[in-house]
Amino acid sequence: MNFNTIDTTTALPVYTTQQAKDYKDIFYEGASNEYYQAMESARGVVTAFLENNTQPFSGVTPAQLRALFAEVAFDTPLESYAQLFAEVKRLYVDHATAFHLPHYIAHLNCPVVIPALAAEVLIAAINSSQDTWDQSAGGTLMEQKLVQWTCNEIGFGTDADGVFTAGGSQSNLMGMLLARDYYATTYLQHNIRKEGLPAEASRFRFFVSEMSHFSLQNTISLMGLGEKALIRVGTDAAFRMDATLLEKAIQQELKNGNIPVGVVATAGTTDFGNIDPLDAIGKLAGKYNMWFHVDAAYGCGLLLTHKYRHLLQGIEQANSVTTDYHKAFFQPISSSALLVKHHHYLNLITHHADYLNPEENEFAGLNQIDKTITQSTRRFDALKLWCTLRMMGKQKLGAYIDTIIETTAATADVIAADNDFELLCYSDISALVFRYHPAAIRAYQVGDALNQHIKKEMFQEGKAIVAGTRVNGEFYLKFTLLNPLTTLEHIHDILSIVKRHGAAYCQSYLATLNS
Ligand SMILES: *Cc1c(COP(=O)(O)O)cnc(C)c1O
Repeated sequence: MNFNTIDTTTALPVYTTQQAKDYKDIFYEGASNEYYQAMESARGVVTAFLENNTQPFSGVTPAQLRALFAEVAFDTPLESYAQLFAEVKRLYVDHATAFHLPHYIAHLNCPVVIPALAAEVLIAAINSSQDTWDQSAGGTLMEQKLVQWTCNEIGFGTDADGVFTAGGSQSNLMGMLLARDYYATTYLQHNIRKEGLPAEASRFRFFVSEMSHFSLQNTISLMGLGEKALIRVGTDAAFRMDATLLEKAIQQELKNGNIPVGVVATAGTTDFGNIDPLDAIGKLAGKYNMWFHVDAAYGCGLLLTHKYRHLLQGIEQANSVTTDYHKAFFQPISSSALLVKHHHYLNLITHHADYLNPEENEFAGLNQIDKTITQSTRRFDALKLWCTLRMMGKQKLGAYIDTIIETTAATADVIAADNDFELLCYSDISALVFRYHPAAIRAYQVGDALNQHIKKEMFQEGKAIVAGTRVNGEFYLKFTLLNPLTTLEHIHDILSIVKRHGAAYCQSYLATLNS
């Protein structure tokens, strides 16, 4: 096929020697050598980061690091990429938290896969913008095909659609906003985009679990409904939303004269990696005519695995779903999506700008900006997932997820069997909340101080990094396993570091008591 994309009668421009000198920093056809040199320097820093790092954190303090910044003056540029990256290395890379090391098990930061990193090189340089067809072309088709793939994995029909976003908070915001606007147009014949909130909006209610992501609170305020509109439903012993309590809460709100608009189920809570009963919640959403949004920012990884996919059963009932590929698909930040069961839902947020996507557009259906609310110019993040799936395939990624889940289950058994530890609960995916609390210290009510001390000392030392969280007012340590290279041996290592710092604290605490 010949698309006649290149008009051979147009001569390539010729640049003068002076231009070549003056414009060597611009990414243009005369600067490919400069580009190559710069990328080689950058690559050198990255491979050194991989090869020389033996622990996830250097232990640097903010004061130590800040001191190095004093000497940098933007008005005197450096002379070479070698100098530039030596400085960047000193100020940043040498002390950056290394998520790829097996002893990093703190937050929801996955190690990243190489096809996605190679894709980043193209994303940055070619710099397509995904808002309109005329700024992206094939990029738009790739994004749309990945959206369809994800929708299919969720179990949505062919009528589904979606869009890539910068992250789960943004995807959730879109899901909640669609819920609000869908309710107003469908049941009140009221267009919030044009008219603002209707009088009934002060009675709109959204239901979430006590363990839902904190960003939903910001979202509900941003939507003009106020935090009062967010009803927090109690959870069961494993911190999953209790569907019986959900129905009670819905009925209570109805009795109070309020309007149940939507429910957000979490598939993979940030703290526990547990999955709300999606099927039961979906059925209740149907029964009370509520929008059903599933926040699968973390749990979307289960879409990849045959073995544990059943844990997401019921997700196909959702009206909208959040997926964070940068949490559970081994993608570099940012990579997220909001998926909807019916493409027409997205019409609720479409705005036609005359200069970008006018209504009488010849590329109808090809301007992804029609589907976004919070972004215009948008990175081609989808290329990372594209390259990942094409190089590795779903099965291999799924096997990584299986390994993570199984290492976590084995870790939970180890912690539960150790009398010095208290495990709060098992995890559907890969997050464990527990604390060090040996019998000798239990009578003294120092569990919080003890575990805060452990977390702080571990971060300072940098050999293994864990997170912390509060549950029912008490401080706990948290492991989040997202690296299939983290083995049970590493876990034993990490637990012995926990014990070393914990035992030191207990010893000095008991010593002061006795002195
Ligand atoms: C991380 C997380 C989010 C927010 O996603 P970002 O990509 O950080 O914006 C939302 N929900 C859950 C359950 C999460 O774990």
